[in-house]
Amino acid sequence: MAEFYVDRTATQGEDHIVHKAVCDQLPPMETLFYIGSYASADAASNIAKGYFPSVATCKDCIPA
Ligand SMILES: [Zn+2]
Repeated sequence: MAEFYVDRTATQGEDHIVHKAVCDQLPPMETLFYIGSYASADAASNIAKGYFPSVATCKDCIPA
């Protein structure tokens, strides 16, 4: 299990980026929304999609 956050601020492409809590590139905590603890990034992304219309995963902490 890992803890996941999603950036409440969208990128220029209008995506909200999902990060693991341990990410080196994690944005400032005040811009993040805590998704919870999940077994996979896919599960975390599905939860994030319930809050934001367009969601993507961080290239640094969630490699494709
Ligand atoms: Zn990340």
